[in-house]
Amino acid sequence: MLLITGGAGYIGSHTVKHLADNGYKCIVIDNLIYGHIEAVDKRAEFVKADVSDKNALRKIFENNKIDAVMHFAAYAYVGESVKDPQKYYTNNVISTLHLLEVMKEFNVKNIVFSSTCATYGEPKYTPIDEKHPQNPINPYGRSKLMIEQIFEDYSKAYGLKYIALRYFNACGASEDASTGESHTPETHLIPLVVQAIKNNSSIKVFGTDYDTPDGTCIRDYIHVEDLALAHRLALENLDKYSGYINLGTGIGTSVKEIIDAVMKVSGRECKIEYAGRREGDPAKLFANNEKAKEILGWTPKYLNMEDSVRTAWNWEMKRKY
Ligand code: UDP
Repeated sequence: MLLITGGAGYIGSHTVKHLADNGYKCIVIDNLIYGHIEAVDKRAEFVKADVSDKNALRKIFENNKIDAVMHFAAYAYVGESVKDPQKYYTNNVISTLHLLEVMKEFNVKNIVFSSTCATYGEPKYTPIDEKHPQNPINPYGRSKLMIEQIFEDYSKAYGLKYIALRYFNACGASEDASTGESHTPETHLIPLVVQAIKNNSSIKVFGTDYDTPDGTCIRDYIHVEDLALAHRLALENLDKYSGYINLGTGIGTSVKEIIDAVMKVSGRECKIEYAGRREGDPAKLFANNEKAKEILGWTPKYLNMEDSVRTAWNWEMKRKY
């Protein structure tokens, strides 16, 4: 049995579905503050509780033989983390300590963790490999880096086996459009472009004077189903490896290229407002994903941006939550 924290969230819910498709049994724990109960696969058990609630965790570990934990539960708004760091350090770091404490009580040693390329901070070079220095520039990124460091210490002291997956920009939805991205508020580029086209409103492009071929920022958009696959492979490789692995396509796509791809897939125009730069946005972020290929045997399937944004568009047209 696997315990999935944050399994009602965007990446967690797609991973639960993928795990169930591959014969794994899952229990989801989620406080449903940002998650959606509709997103939780019916084949999984669901417990509505906070990961910081040690008694709720103990009950789960007492009643089930948990083999491994996948830990997605976290707050993930960069801007909010700057305004309210306490919320981020408490929820992200302290909750993880509680989770690790209960895992230790029950002698559960395996964990796969949602980390982020935000732990690298301002890039010194691209593509970014795992050896790139980690100097996160906001409390969100710092909270994730602290957790990675805690895992390293717990691994040495208590034999914890962990893989921290450093995601680049998660995107897209399931092929059948049953699950997808649903954040309130929404701050991410692809859902905002899709919604702007659907609602005939406009998208703001943050900055057109970056040192990139078309002047807009470049990111590495990795499809959520490829992330889900990587989580299963990480779980299956915990005996072989503990450490950190980037998850990205290795391909950089600009803001303008994203808007063009959504227009092409939807067959509709998008109204664009050119705005100033958003604070804290580096010009270019994309991954070196060789380590994921080598250690996990993972190859992302979505390498064409139009295929990825098509799933986001289909989801937006059908979404139920
Ligand atoms: N972006 C934009 N307009 C928006 C939202 C995002 O131009 O309304 C840009 C943002 O500046 C960044 C890229 O799109 O260069 C991806 O931003 P997002 O917030 O989706 O992810 P991030 O890279 O910040 O994690």
